[in-house]
Amino acid sequence: MAGIFGVVSEENCIEDAFYGTFYLQHRAQEYCGMALDNSKTLENITHKGLIKQQFTKDIRNNLSAYSAIGVVSSDRQPVSGLSRAGGMLLGFDGNLINYQQLKDKLLKEGVSFDGYHNPEKVTDTIIVSKIISSELNFEEGVERLVNDIQGDFSIISLSRQSVYAARGWGRKPLILGKKDGTYAVSSESNSFVNTNFKIVRDVEPGEIILLDKEGFHTLKKINLTPVKYGTFEWIYTAHPASVIDGRSAVSVRKKIGMALAKRYPVEADLVSPVPNSGRWHAIGYSEESKTPYQEVFVRYDYSDRSFTPQEKEDRVEEGDRKLIVLEEIVNGKKIVLVDDSIVRGTQTENQIKKLREKKVKEIHGRIACPPLMAACRYGKTTRTDDECIARRMSVDEIRKTRGLTTLGYATVEDLEEAIGFPREKLCLECWGF
Ligand code: SF4
Repeated sequence: MAGIFGVVSEENCIEDAFYGTFYLQHRAQEYCGMALDNSKTLENITHKGLIKQQFTKDIRNNLSAYSAIGVVSSDRQPVSGLSRAGGMLLGFDGNLINYQQLKDKLLKEGVSFDGYHNPEKVTDTIIVSKIISSELNFEEGVERLVNDIQGDFSIISLSRQSVYAARGWGRKPLILGKKDGTYAVSSESNSFVNTNFKIVRDVEPGEIILLDKEGFHTLKKINLTPVKYGTFEWIYTAHPASVIDGRSAVSVRKKIGMALAKRYPVEADLVSPVPNSGRWHAIGYSEESKTPYQEVFVRYDYSDRSFTPQEKEDRVEEGDRKLIVLEEIVNGKKIVLVDDSIVRGTQTENQIKKLREKKVKEIHGRIACPPLMAACRYGKTTRTDDECIARRMSVDEIRKTRGLTTLGYATVEDLEEAIGFPREKLCLECWGF
């Protein structure tokens, strides 16, 4: 999981590179890094932690660059490589399902890895960087990548005076933006809003792009099939302000909420999200059902997104601690509680318990996607198949064991309708399709 941002400008672009990456922080929180071309050298700076804490204003004041990339990620990035075309620094949002096979193949070819016995040291990004740098140039490297890997990706790479970008089969978003004399590429268009970039267009699946001071140049378009867009981006992962492949995350979320209200109508006093991820679905539900919108939990601002900590116990604890019930609002009420998804059901159980303790009369769960059945093989959301409660329990068993009055999930048809792509274009693997 990563957020990647690249920029090329006629002027010092450090602030654009920093803020463009900062607005992707919701995608990953463990590491951050920036690679810079200051017209003399390529410099790479990586840290553990949040980008705002590591690249402070004082630090940024001592940096300058005319092209740069920034990454927030769950592994240390950007990764440096040396190709026959020269030095490059790579940012990678993706996952290698056939990691071991790719590593063995590279070792057989004589590629060396520091600490190669340790998968934590030889990350997916390092493997990808070795694959790309084994070829003559970035385009050929990406061609080898798409031929060799199982998985999906978006990548950016910084070389002298230019940024390269490429997108795999579609699950990982990548979008282009521009403002006067400055060209950018980002995981999400949310990066462009407060940095005053205008969206140009999405990078298409299979497209390889060069950004330089003259603008964007498509270097190659590889025919990758089947194209599959990352459905969960619109439901949960992306920032609500992002527009992905022409579909705004906030309007998709509202439409799913409206579909839930039509599919599972119920008499209730109020509709509340599980914040923050259920918020826009809940607003859609409220608008459609004409039931007042009122949040029953306050999410404590200093909590992390609960899917980002690597350890399962940490995730459950973080999820548990982040929500505080507003007792005055919930006492004696019938509530529709809207969430983006249920993975293990542990957090749902704890939230319902908290609400029941505050004397809620009825709780009707509405979930913005179908029951999750499988781990994401592309690096998102659920961690293992076994963690998915829907593999072990029917919807009614989940309802009963979690203490819900009723429970309704969105269907694949609801997702197709809300997103506006037919199911063949949507990745639905985590729902077992
Ligand atoms: S399996 Fe699910 S989370 Fe993973 S890319 Fe597909 S839709 Fe997204």
